[in-house]
Amino acid sequence: MRVRFAPSPTGPLHVGNARVALVNFLFARRHGGVFFLRFDDTDPDRSRPEHAEAILRDLGWLGLSWQGPERQSERLSAYEAAASQLRQSGRLYACYETEDELERMRAALRRRGRPPVYDRAGLRLTEAEQSRLDAAGRKPYWRFRLSERTVAWHDLVIGERRIPLPSLSDPVLIREDATPLYTFTSIVDDQDFAITHVIRGEDHVTNTAVQIDLWEALGASLPLPSFAHLPLLTDESGGKLSKRLGSLAIHTLREDGIMAEALACYLVRLGTGGDPEPAPLETLAQSFDLSSFSRSSARFDMHQLLLLNRRVLQHLPFSAVADRLPQGATEEFWLTVRNNLDLLSEARWWWQVVAGEIVPPPLEAEGAFLHKAASLLPPEPWDCSTWKTFSDALAAATGRRGKSLFHPLRLALTGEEDGPALARLLPLMGRARAATRLRQAAG
Ligand code: GLU
Repeated sequence: MRVRFAPSPTGPLHVGNARVALVNFLFARRHGGVFFLRFDDTDPDRSRPEHAEAILRDLGWLGLSWQGPERQSERLSAYEAAASQLRQSGRLYACYETEDELERMRAALRRRGRPPVYDRAGLRLTEAEQSRLDAAGRKPYWRFRLSERTVAWHDLVIGERRIPLPSLSDPVLIREDATPLYTFTSIVDDQDFAITHVIRGEDHVTNTAVQIDLWEALGASLPLPSFAHLPLLTDESGGKLSKRLGSLAIHTLREDGIMAEALACYLVRLGTGGDPEPAPLETLAQSFDLSSFSRSSARFDMHQLLLLNRRVLQHLPFSAVADRLPQGATEEFWLTVRNNLDLLSEARWWWQVVAGEIVPPPLEAEGAFLHKAASLLPPEPWDCSTWKTFSDALAAATGRRGKSLFHPLRLALTGEEDGPALARLLPLMGRARAATRLRQAAG
């Protein structure tokens, strides 16, 4: 079993393609197969080495490991060989229309209520016409002549599929500037690397019909791979997620404080109906099953991801986060705040609360109470029993209990309505800070 994840390095990795990467990886792990990484980088205008680097970083952060990466830009001779084979068998033909001419043709077909399928004009050019065009300096682009049949396959996720090839335009495989295009390079590579399962997004379903035809035209001795298309992700309201993908880049989520384990578990459970449980990838691999994915689109819900992230953070030891916490943050600090975070980045705020300056909200109505509180702060050293000593003394002096006692204290000391236990925060922030804040809030 050999699978591949084949991103085009034209932008950052986002939740949609990270999910495809994870599914391929877990599928390979589950069945003892090989997981290849390949960069589909033949488009010189849009592919960038820095995007490829960033994708490697993001996949590594998610916990994946792979064979490769292969880069299509380094395999151009393989595509040239495949192209000449197709030319010889009459399946690859030269075309000379400009983009404008093609657009006019498509518009004319649409006006007549016909599907805008390419009319194969290139195939009808005589040799003399072709030589005249070549002599005039016109460069051809190249199309693959599709068979006149319906391609059918059993998709491992979305079930039986049938696509009549005559409903499609012969695909362009090589551009006028000789750049080979994805439809073509992908299938050449899938053959050369003996890929057994192509697992990718549902947006590639039509490509699959074309690529199956190409696979056979290339005369491979290998059996056709199995295909699995994952239904696409939608946003919370069921709309297209693609518009928001910029903000759902993996590096953005990481910088915001989403943990790799939470993101991975969330993405691989999306669309399976299963509950996302925090678990390492190896555990997820043991029970991974492609057939658990639903045939309909899955909703990416940030709220669910945050809930899972919260659960992951609650169990993380200090050593796992130390290098991402603010300078100076201690283990005691981490153990105090980790139950109250949706995002790791929120630890920065709590560090500010215990080790920096905050401006508490003005609580004039509580002025006398807060002044009293400030005067009752015990002398240092403070430890975890200090809070009880302090609040018992304050309760005795003011007759307050419960919320009326604790709520103004929390607001004045932390600036927040809720958060980690004050008994643990108080010794971390120290007497001077606590006294200043109580007096400042009192006005
Ligand atoms: N480069 C393609 C993409 O990013 C790969 C699709 C495939 O897996 O074949 O969509």
